[in-house]
Amino acid sequence: MTAPGLLLPGSTLGILGAGQLGRMLAMAARRLGYRVGVFSPEPDAPAAAAADFAVVASYDDAAAVSAFAARVDVVTFEFENVPSSVAETAGQRVPVRPAGRVLHTTQQRLREKAHLRATGLPVADFVPVDDAQALVRGVAALGLPCVLKTAGFGYDGKGQRRLDADDPQTLAHAFEGLQGGPGVLEAWVPFERELSVVAARGLDGAFAAYPVFENRHRHHVLDVTLAPAEIPGPVADAAVALARRVLESLDVVGLLCVELFQLPGGRLLINEVAPRTHNSGHLTLDASVTSQFEQQVRAVCGLPLGSTDTRPAAMVNLLGDLWADGEPDWRAALAMPGVHLHLYGKREARPGRKMGHLTVVGGSVADAAQRAVEARARLTAR
Ligand code: AMP
Repeated sequence: MTAPGLLLPGSTLGILGAGQLGRMLAMAARRLGYRVGVFSPEPDAPAAAAADFAVVASYDDAAAVSAFAARVDVVTFEFENVPSSVAETAGQRVPVRPAGRVLHTTQQRLREKAHLRATGLPVADFVPVDDAQALVRGVAALGLPCVLKTAGFGYDGKGQRRLDADDPQTLAHAFEGLQGGPGVLEAWVPFERELSVVAARGLDGAFAAYPVFENRHRHHVLDVTLAPAEIPGPVADAAVALARRVLESLDVVGLLCVELFQLPGGRLLINEVAPRTHNSGHLTLDASVTSQFEQQVRAVCGLPLGSTDTRPAAMVNLLGDLWADGEPDWRAALAMPGVHLHLYGKREARPGRKMGHLTVVGGSVADAAQRAVEARARLTAR
């Protein structure tokens, strides 16, 4: 007898979104013997080349979403900023994992923060900002500095701005930056470190987390991830316990990433929840027994979750800026022992665009980090 909801290899996984996360997810699914379809509005998207079939249509095209769902056995996503109607439409035909309400909650900062706070999970103080007066009141309540963010569809620091002054001109200008959409004003968090926990929850409620990762950003974009984070054991345990409560409170079947701020003294605040694989989890491809992508496939197909044992490792992102003077010198980086190169097959290298990453596994975390950073430097050292 098979368990309800179980989808064995040979079934077809449908992925909403077709960026690099979808590409690596598709590769993991196909390795396990699944068929893969991807759905995205962009032609030539990175995941299309790794899938059995790709549908190019707008997320608003209900007929196309429905026809896509009819060709697959389960729908999951690599990108959460799709209209909630997509999950509803697909859900009329096949299971959507994680469910559409997880998407709905996590794709909008205010809903996400309200959920976390109502669940008793720690977040920075925040106030909703619907009009210019609310911003003035919010700044007075939270104090300076603080951070104004668009409530919806933001990632990698897009649509956010730090406020260091509360004069009317600054606030009016900041409010205009929201471009009419709702905003959320957050207290500034004087964090010591940024951490992330990538964790999965199976159809049977099983839970598995990777070791806590430490993330360093440049210009608000992830630059380097270290695994494991060099933090005291009780802080790591607390971070994983928070992630577990996030997954359970949202009743997630799938995999998600909880981004955290660690304050001096070890206290943790949740910054953001991404209901999918995460850039900080890319090193699991080379350093972990089960990659985050395979883990998502296992979770949404009802298979047992895999081991999250992870060797010390470091990952560096490769942004389009590295192409400014021509093709990076891949041979120089790959000549270093232990360097793994991952490129996402994007044709055009624009500044700030995530084109790939490098991972180094083994030795100490510090050693892996130093070698990964050196490998990246060699790409442009001509
Ligand atoms: P986000 O888009 O919310 O993930 O923010 C991107 C980055 O901005 C974070 O990874 C932090 O480095 C920084 N940041 C965001 N919110 C705050 C805050 N309230 N206090 C301090 N830094 C923040």
